[in-house]
Amino acid sequence: MANRIPTGTREEVYKRANHQCELCLSTHVDGIHHIIPRRKRIHRPETLILLCKRHHDLAHGPMQIHLQGGLQLYYKMKGYDDDEIRELMGGKYYLNEERMMDIVRLHFLKLYKNERMINFG
Ligand SMILES: [Zn+2]
Ligand SMILES: [Zn+2]
Repeated sequence: MANRIPTGTREEVYKRANHQCELCLSTHVDGIHHIIPRRKRIHRPETLILLCKRHHDLAHGPMQIHLQGGLQLYYKMKGYDDDEIRELMGGKYYLNEERMMDIVRLHFLKLYKNERMINFG
């Protein structure tokens, strides 16, 4: 029971989203997604996002880390310090800037290597 989104919060998210996917504005919504894993039982509106089926599937895959990074950025912009952000994120720092830069570096390194393989065999 405690793991359910309170009705008021659910209504707030749907209203904020205008009943559309908050990423592509599709009116065919699948449901509310938890940016912080559901088991943490955090149901603040900013941790919830209304998504269509396609984006909900992505959110349960490679997109989730970006949603978590975005949520952390949101808290940072609101002036919370790193400890407060970790607390707000359910006790875990999901994506610090160093980690994000690692991912970006690896991505472009891979791109570069792939291009070299194509160009030089
Ligand atoms: Zn969508
Ligand atoms: Zn979900």
